[in-house]
Amino acid sequence: MIAANITEITSYMIIHMVEGASFDLAQAVIDRIDRDYGLPCDTIIGADSCIIGVKGIAAVVDESRISEMDGVDRVIRITEKYKDASRNFHHEDTIIDVAGTQVGGANLTVVGGPCAIETEQQAIDSAMLAKDAGVDILRAFVDKSRTSPYDFRGLEIKRGLEIAKSMKEATGLPIVSELIDLRHLDAFMEAGIDVIQVGARSAQYAPLLEELSRVDTPVILKHGLGNDLNEWLCAAAFVMSGLDRQGRVVGPGNKNVILCYRGLKSFEGETRFSADIGMIPLVRHKSHLPLLADPSHSSGDRMLVERVAYGFVAAGAHGFEFDIHSNPSEALCDGRQAVQHEAGRIISRARQIHAMLSDIGIQTGSEVAVPAK
Ligand code: PEP
Ligand code: MN
Repeated sequence: MIAANITEITSYMIIHMVEGASFDLAQAVIDRIDRDYGLPCDTIIGADSCIIGVKGIAAVVDESRISEMDGVDRVIRITEKYKDASRNFHHEDTIIDVAGTQVGGANLTVVGGPCAIETEQQAIDSAMLAKDAGVDILRAFVDKSRTSPYDFRGLEIKRGLEIAKSMKEATGLPIVSELIDLRHLDAFMEAGIDVIQVGARSAQYAPLLEELSRVDTPVILKHGLGNDLNEWLCAAAFVMSGLDRQGRVVGPGNKNVILCYRGLKSFEGETRFSADIGMIPLVRHKSHLPLLADPSHSSGDRMLVERVAYGFVAAGAHGFEFDIHSNPSEALCDGRQAVQHEAGRIISRARQIHAMLSDIGIQTGSEVAVPAK
């Protein structure tokens, strides 16, 4: 009996009317939801109260507008606002093809390379070091989002992209680069950037996210320095949904979003950002998207990077992204957190840990990786 009822549940938002509210007030709510969102409702009418269940995809309904209506007591959202990124709407793990490398599912993907392209020599040396260490996707970062304008913010874009291209040619690896300025998207595409990263400092900038929804290039999406899980997955939905500012479907959206957890700003000053290991299985549970984690930007210290990387893998991340530099003590950006020759050891041990997980019965791919609550 119960199973039959469960399959029939289509309400994703519940509206409680205040006790004694007239039928007309309830009808006005039902009419508004039909008029503004085109969604039908079910009602449960008791002796002195009424409950309205919105049927269909209530992600589009603005609950604050509904809760302002006469006679409405409270509005309870059952499903999330990030439909496209949610596992409720897509049960299996999504696997994303990055120039032949499969990211997500049971695969472990390692992204690595220098924090920034500084000179051609430094970029090629660091790229070769990263390749020899065994990375799958190479960092070729041209534009840097920095906290202070006096910090090194990258080479001139045209020159940086030429070097990025040489890094790709020298290693034969796919490359990832952070897009900060929308005006550079075409140049990034022409330079053969395989993956576009959205950094923590632009993680909620809707125009950038919407622009990326119009291409199908894979995107690595970090979360903002103070974003919670809902805000992060909503940012992913901006890239994936293909909606314009009027909520009209203007394209298929870009479904190739790879999440990358990088920790939050907290009162703890001795790690650069606070990374909560519990976020890894939680995000796996909430979203079908591939999930990487960044042990370099979260810990901020090469002494910590190795163990943190292993921790992320053991917790269920589909891989990690970290800084590898040919000469960290000379780096113009984030040298303290960059590893050098130890990169190969870190990657090979991380792969062993990942392989061991399935050996001891811990699934790495698909939703069964995370037991239901
Ligand atoms: C980076 O990956 O180089 C970077 C700046 O990371 P974040 O956006 O997470 O700070
Ligand atoms: Mn960095």
